[in-house]
Amino acid sequence: MSVPLPTRQKWFDDGAAALERAFPGTTAAQFGPEAPIRYACPICDGLFERSDLERNVLTVEHVPPAAIGGKGLVLTCKPCNNESGDSIDADLVHRERIDAVGRGEYTGETKVFLHTDEGRIAATLIADADSRQLHISDVNNPPGVVDAVRPTLKAGVPVQVEHRTWRFAELGANLSLLKAGFLALFAIYGYRLSRNKAYEVVRRQILNPDTAIIRQHLINLPPHIRRDEQHVVVMRDLACHGVMMRGQIALFPFEGDESFYDRLAGRADGDLVTGTVLGWPSGPTYGQKLSM
Ligand SMILES: [Zn+2]
Repeated sequence: MSVPLPTRQKWFDDGAAALERAFPGTTAAQFGPEAPIRYACPICDGLFERSDLERNVLTVEHVPPAAIGGKGLVLTCKPCNNESGDSIDADLVHRERIDAVGRGEYTGETKVFLHTDEGRIAATLIADADSRQLHISDVNNPPGVVDAVRPTLKAGVPVQVEHRTWRFAELGANLSLLKAGFLALFAIYGYRLSRNKAYEVVRRQILNPDTAIIRQHLINLPPHIRRDEQHVVVMRDLACHGVMMRGQIALFPFEGDESFYDRLAGRADGDLVTGTVLGWPSGPTYGQKLSM
């Protein structure tokens, strides 16, 4: 569902006012005292004017990505939304599908390789609610390979299945959740959070998805937690914000806590998830609803 222009304009106006409230004179410093106040992209901190909405320079970001059920939540600039976002979001979507196939929940067509003692062959796995079928064709395989493998398959010998096209980067999938969590927190807390020193490393990591800057930011939740459950949690034990999505929880520092990720690296696990649940933002409030 696309977010209508009047809603996007309200998100812009409220965000620009929130930026001016938290950091007075931000627009004037760059564009002069007469310039209408601008909205800052929470990721790159670039300043944008209201007409950038109509020109699609400022775009709605789905949190988490739309392909896995996320809803439009905040405005980011097009380069941050598309160029740095598309590849990591695709990594997350692919990982979600692979997990769903593993749990027997994915329906649709999947290109796979079958590994047998006789060799590897390309096939298509077609899954619907009731059944799974493997389609094997000579067209996708070197001559003779299918015939060689057929007796093994007919005998019902278990074979190993590998996904052909769903190669993805684990780092990218993890960073897609880092970005989604950061934007959910920005929707709630606004620029005091996104422009806080402790979040410089988060924004740098989102803008540089090919390099692991933050060693760890995710905790796996126990399997009984539904994957579509989404909450923002204030976690007193670990002294951080947690954003729960897709069976994991992404961790973020309290304001000013610049050494948070250094302390966290290697020590967080699922037993530590306790805290106050704040729910999930339906749109950006930028800190207005909080007494800060
Ligand atoms: Zn940006």
